[in-house]
Amino acid sequence: DERIEEITKKIATYPDFPKPGISFKDIFSVLLEPRVFRNLMAVLEERVRRVCPGVQAVVGLESRGFLIGTPLALALDIPFVPIRKKGKLPGKVKQVSYTLEYGTDVFEAQESSIKKGQKVVILDDLLATGGSMKAACDLVTAMGGEVLLCLVCIELLDLKGCEKFSHPFDAVVKF
Ligand code: IMP
Repeated sequence: DERIEEITKKIATYPDFPKPGISFKDIFSVLLEPRVFRNLMAVLEERVRRVCPGVQAVVGLESRGFLIGTPLALALDIPFVPIRKKGKLPGKVKQVSYTLEYGTDVFEAQESSIKKGQKVVILDDLLATGGSMKAACDLVTAMGGEVLLCLVCIELLDLKGCEKFSHPFDAVVKF
């Protein structure tokens, strides 16, 4: 697919960011070019329509998951549901804790944002260790939602992040 080749070329790499030894892949370089961004959104939409035609909500992970999750939800004409770090969403929330390299973090979703039995796709910009995606799967499941697909723009293959969770997974670009 020529669109994916072009998207791959547009993703900028920043060595030693945000820490020495980390090679940071930057989705924002794709968003600088409307045509390439539009192609990325088209590819994501095609995959969701093909793999899970009955999907009822797009769940986006803070913060870059919002950038691609919102236009995807609009294109599919289904709700967009944010998952955020602790303390940022108003009203009653459901929480899940997850472990990071050092310590733990907490994800939250608004209590009524995911309904029992609702079929969702979870979206993020990038899968690294898979810890964030696994936590999001756990939160959605605890709220009664059904994860049909975990979808990212970029997968870092070396880290084997997709082995952390058992739900169907797809990535547009793999490094
Ligand atoms: P994981 O939980 O280790 O899979 O890390 C994934 C989360 O960290 C995602 O929300 C990403 O936005 C962010 N992340 C980790 N590595 C990178 C990177 O190289 N570029 C952009 N985001 C990253």
